[in-house]
Amino acid sequence: MAEESAVKVCVRVRPLIPREDCAASENAEPVHYFWKADAKSIYQSDDGNSSKSFSFDRVFTAEETTNQLYQAIAKPLVVSSVQGYNGTIFAYGQTSSGKTFTMMGSDRFPGVLPMAVEDVFQTIKSCPKKEFLLRVSYMEIYNETVSDLLVDSWKRKPLEVRETINKTIYVADLTEELVTSHAQVLAWIWKGEENRHYGKTKMNERSSRSHTIFRMILENRERSDPASGENADGAIIVSHLNLVDLAGSERASQTGAEGTRFKEGCNINRSLFTLGQVIKRLTDEGQKGFTNYRDSKLTRILQNSLGGNAKTVIICTITPVTLEETLSTLQFASTAK
Ligand code: ADP
Ligand code: MG
Repeated sequence: MAEESAVKVCVRVRPLIPREDCAASENAEPVHYFWKADAKSIYQSDDGNSSKSFSFDRVFTAEETTNQLYQAIAKPLVVSSVQGYNGTIFAYGQTSSGKTFTMMGSDRFPGVLPMAVEDVFQTIKSCPKKEFLLRVSYMEIYNETVSDLLVDSWKRKPLEVRETINKTIYVADLTEELVTSHAQVLAWIWKGEENRHYGKTKMNERSSRSHTIFRMILENRERSDPASGENADGAIIVSHLNLVDLAGSERASQTGAEGTRFKEGCNINRSLFTLGQVIKRLTDEGQKGFTNYRDSKLTRILQNSLGGNAKTVIICTITPVTLEETLSTLQFASTAK
């Protein structure tokens, strides 16, 4: 059997939303579709000489649901995280392209995150010979500052990323809450989301400039068998399942900004660029050399979960009605695949 690739990249096209759809509002100009998609490729709709086309293992068209995407690309990673392998799922794309819709979901459409949590508990049930201990953490990286979303905002302070002598990277003082059910995990996510509302009006702006990492920490060991009186050796296997909603990728190319905006732009640029480099190194077997995970907090925090026998899925979200930003996302997706 051919070995599964450790890094999977897919593209998801979102449908038009009401404010873009002229059918939904009488006065709007007809929208122009710059891009078309089928199950394997995305191409520019006007077939001029310079029109571009990109192919991928999998493209999810606007008609496909998050559940279809989850089953096809995310589920295997989630199951293997229960078996003891680290895994990370990223959503990459410009603001408003559907990252949060895909990862968190909305009231009516659950996202990858709640589906993953559900599957973690399901998979555990199917492993009666093992016992598990589960914890969750939820953090935000904003302007290269890491904060704990499970702590009330007034108590929150910037967290440091550190390394143990055996090269394990950890975020010092990050809360890890013990959980035993799907509902408990969702309650912590809600708490984290509430804590992100630093003044509601700023919410959208801020969410487009920060990365969030939701992490499940899974510990397992063989159960000792009381029937035979035999004791398992007690070795504990620890794995991380990370779900990452990245900052809007348009910030990376934003020019002309000044002051704070400029600094934010540079930091986002640097972290997404470093992530791209790391992924490229992982997928490009011939490529040797040193990848500097330390160049950004994002890659540093995820260092132990990228590479080795860890699995990575990158969901690149695009809209068919923006030209430049979609092009830049597709270029990122192509170098990562
Ligand atoms: P991002 O997190 O990338 O900024 P959002 O996830 O907030 O973008 O999506 C922007 C808007 O588009 C939201 O109103 C969301 O509900 C809607 N949307 C995104 N993807 C889809 C989809 N696949 N199907 C239906 N609506 C979507
Ligand atoms: Mg978002």
